[in-house]
Amino acid sequence: MIYDDKLDVLHQALGSHSFVARVQGGKLKTKNEIRIGSVFKKVPIEFLKMITVHELAHIKEKQHNKAFYQLCQHMESDYHQLEFDMRLYLTHLDITGKLY
Ligand SMILES: [Zn+2]
Repeated sequence: MIYDDKLDVLHQALGSHSFVARVQGGKLKTKNEIRIGSVFKKVPIEFLKMITVHELAHIKEKQHNKAFYQLCQHMESDYHQLEFDMRLYLTHLDITGKLY
């Protein structure tokens, strides 16, 4: 998991994930990488859990559809409340000028 300060967490994505494959020393190395906005370095651990669940669910479901949210709720039963709280928190940081 990598923090990325170039992610526009308020208007685009909270995080992103990618599957990286590269050749290293004659061997093919692959890894799943999750990037999340740098602002999440300072958030409560529950929000960090929520965003990790979100990005993990995206490995299986690309869209924010019903199956996606079912997957999120399967991993974190409080998912919807946490996502709501987190967006509220980001909005608070934004209007008080503390987001970036
Ligand atoms: Zn998403």
